[in-house]
Amino acid sequence: MMEKEARTCPKCGRTYTAPPALSRLDNKTLICPLCGTAESIGFLPKETQEEILAAAEAAEKDHM
Ligand SMILES: [Zn+2]
Repeated sequence: MMEKEARTCPKCGRTYTAPPALSRLDNKTLICPLCGTAESIGFLPKETQEEILAAAEAAEKDHM
């Protein structure tokens, strides 16, 4: 069985084994998928950002 390679995300400092995302800031830094999502949200219009964040927040409350 092949072990997944653990990488450390330079943005949040966490270790992750999921397929890395390419940072949109310089297109060469590999970051964790979560930071990749956060970065891609950062490139969306403000109204869309707020919509996504509100939806994420609502989803989180559902699990409480
Ligand atoms: Zn990260």
